[in-house]
Amino acid sequence: AKSQGRNGFQFFDAALRDEIRTRVRLGNELRAAIASSGISLHFQPLYSMPGNRISACEALVRWFHPTHGMIPPDQFVGLAEENGLIHDLGEWVLRAACMEAADWPAQVKIAVNVSPIQLRNPRFLGIVENALAHSGLAPHRLEIEITENIFVQNSATNRDILRQLGRIGCSIVLDDFGTGYSSLGYLRSFQFQKIKIDRSFVQELPERSASGIIRAIISLAQSMDIPITAEGVETHDQWAHLNDLGCNQVQGFLLGRPQPSDMIRQSIMSHA
Ligand code: C2E
Ligand code: CA
Ligand code: CA
Ligand code: CA
Repeated sequence: AKSQGRNGFQFFDAALRDEIRTRVRLGNELRAAIASSGISLHFQPLYSMPGNRISACEALVRWFHPTHGMIPPDQFVGLAEENGLIHDLGEWVLRAACMEAADWPAQVKIAVNVSPIQLRNPRFLGIVENALAHSGLAPHRLEIEITENIFVQNSATNRDILRQLGRIGCSIVLDDFGTGYSSLGYLRSFQFQKIKIDRSFVQELPERSASGIIRAIISLAQSMDIPITAEGVETHDQWAHLNDLGCNQVQGFLLGRPQPSDMIRQSIMSHA
């Protein structure tokens, strides 16, 4: 039994070592990709309700790996957060997104996902200001999407950086609402310009419980004068429900998938 235990331990050890090697290699490849345009952005349209015009697009990062093909962001953003590459990756994303949007019609905003770790970087405000200045994008056209995970640490630093971003004119969007650590207290103490209802609720529509939760979130947001976006809208039925419930903006495969820059330009031109 003892030697078996030792074997088991050695096996675990080897597996762990392999995994660490893989992550280190993947991390090095990601660093190289960031430096050499191995990553790019796709853009997904957000439509105003009920007008059905494109009022914003969300930048979604893509990594085309030479041998693994397309690696979805869910798999490498976490790695980048662990090894610190998120700062370079996030800066690249911000600059590229602002450059792209600067050429769009002025009523179309650009939404950029920002990791809580980026917000803790003392240089973050400067990075945003540089991306705006370099691209010429007006600050009010930049929406910064942060997830509820930000509230894991309800720190003064978080509050400060969000306030500073607001002061230079950017909008702060609370992403994936309803899945994490939000509380009514946080909604009151942070100034959000928009709340995005998480896809998991939208996809259960027209189930009554999901519909009740969305109705409650919308009436809460309305009482605080905060517009509501619903993400992950895939069916016309879901769209019609959200429209009835008074949702302000929708995003999802029904209306438009994430697409490369030349395609999003065409979509914007026909729907702006
Ligand atoms: P997210 O911010 O919630 O972004 C929306 C995700 O939902 C995107 O996945 C999008 O392709 C997908 N989606 C949109 N509409 C639908 C729909 O109707 N049905 C379904 N099933 N999915 C839909 P994607 O591009 O794979 O991104 C996944 C996550 O990776 C994002 O979730 C975001 O948290 C993160 N991410 C993406 N780009 C960045 C980035 O530049 N920086 C950071 N920090 N995170 C990013
Ligand atoms: Ca998002
Ligand atoms: Ca989301
Ligand atoms: Ca999500």
